[in-house]
Amino acid sequence: MFSPSVAKPLGYLLSIGFLIGAARAAGPPPDLGRDVLPPNDGWASQPTAALPLGTTGGSNAAAARTVTVTNRNELVAALAWPDPAPKLIYIRGTIDANVDEALKPLACKDYQRPDPMTGEAYSLPAFLAMYDPEGPLGKDKKDPFGGPENARAASAAAQAARVRIRVPPNTTLFGLGADATLVGAWLDIAGPSAEARGGNEPVNVIIRNLNFVDTADCFPEWSPSDGATGNWNSAYDSISVRHATHVWIDHNRFADLRTRDDTQPTYYAHRYQVHDGLLDITDESDLVTVSWNQFAVHDKAMLIGNSDAAVADRDKLRVTLHHNLFDNVGQRTPRVRFGKVHVYNNLYHVASDTNYHSSWGAGVESQIYAENNYFEMSTMFGPMEVIDGKKGTRITTAGNCWRENAGACEVTDFVAVWNAKFDPDLSADAGWTPSLYGGAGGADIPAEARERVLSSSGPGKVVPGGGFRVSPN
Ligand code: CA
Ligand code: CA
Repeated sequence: MFSPSVAKPLGYLLSIGFLIGAARAAGPPPDLGRDVLPPNDGWASQPTAALPLGTTGGSNAAAARTVTVTNRNELVAALAWPDPAPKLIYIRGTIDANVDEALKPLACKDYQRPDPMTGEAYSLPAFLAMYDPEGPLGKDKKDPFGGPENARAASAAAQAARVRIRVPPNTTLFGLGADATLVGAWLDIAGPSAEARGGNEPVNVIIRNLNFVDTADCFPEWSPSDGATGNWNSAYDSISVRHATHVWIDHNRFADLRTRDDTQPTYYAHRYQVHDGLLDITDESDLVTVSWNQFAVHDKAMLIGNSDAAVADRDKLRVTLHHNLFDNVGQRTPRVRFGKVHVYNNLYHVASDTNYHSSWGAGVESQIYAENNYFEMSTMFGPMEVIDGKKGTRITTAGNCWRENAGACEVTDFVAVWNAKFDPDLSADAGWTPSLYGGAGGADIPAEARERVLSSSGPGKVVPGGGFRVSPN
């Protein structure tokens, strides 16, 4: 007998002929939560010895491990980290991560803790007075130390214990309807043993059809040596992938609402940045597909590789991004170090009031292959801003187009545009050719990709087969 994890890909292949058509016509709606990543759909579909079918998540979860959760504590209990037994967890309604064991909402002040050494209470005014770059301690740019910093760190740890939600191997998280929402949560997808010993391991996780809102750090840290004059940095991504292979992130929406950057105060002449990334892929992770998501109203969306010094990331960090909407996002869509990253058929939309910085961060040893993406941009910005040279030396850009306001989308060679403006020049050959999408010709033309992203990305739009379309060639 087939296990469901075997039956699903076979069913997918057969369904091209008739199976799903028959189910639509006669039977009950397909159980989309048990879908697996289709063959050939980006790097996460790459078969390995451990996962010969690619990414299957919790598609073959037993009935006892197939549950619907409606609050944070039920979700954490259902995940039972680090238990690797397959789990299919449906999320219904809005789940706030900032709650206590009795589900009472927790505000930032509820997490405030004293300095464990001295008992000195946490106080933002005391913190700001102590580490002021213009003050006596600030001029040597040392990282904060002492009472107010200790109290900040203890307070941050108290919040992390609530909002960090660890996702174990062989799990599918699937939102019911279009409005299933995680507020303030950090989904931490990490290989349980690789995290401790280094390297990566197959985690086989699928996250689909969810809204991620307002992942925010109540206690940003002050980093005086970040940039010329320091910066505020925060700790929680909506999703982080670490020491992990085979992750499929599909049909989700990520956005800041209550905690939008433009609602945050400024201290030391820098925005008090309460956000980190929306979806960061780091620490030797590999084989990830990010498809049909919406990333909106945020500064730094997606970091792939978090340090120039992390040479263990070489030959890893292989990620596919396709048919995602990046709507008024500032930068890092994505920003890449080391990895071979295929960025195709995404829609970038930026309005005039956005703090837009760049789209593709070409970091050290990165090999971005950017194909048939559509840029729909305010005239405030120009095509020389798409690539951000961050010690990268090569990037392939093919078939992408740039449109200002109501004009036509002009096919644009972003490498040539960059090279005309900046030095040293980038090579226009990333040194590899993607194949896990039907091969050459597997991408939609940009105008078609734009239409499909607008009509079919985000929660509530999941269809059997994941929206992936086998190339006609
Ligand atoms: Ca991060
Ligand atoms: Ca040049």
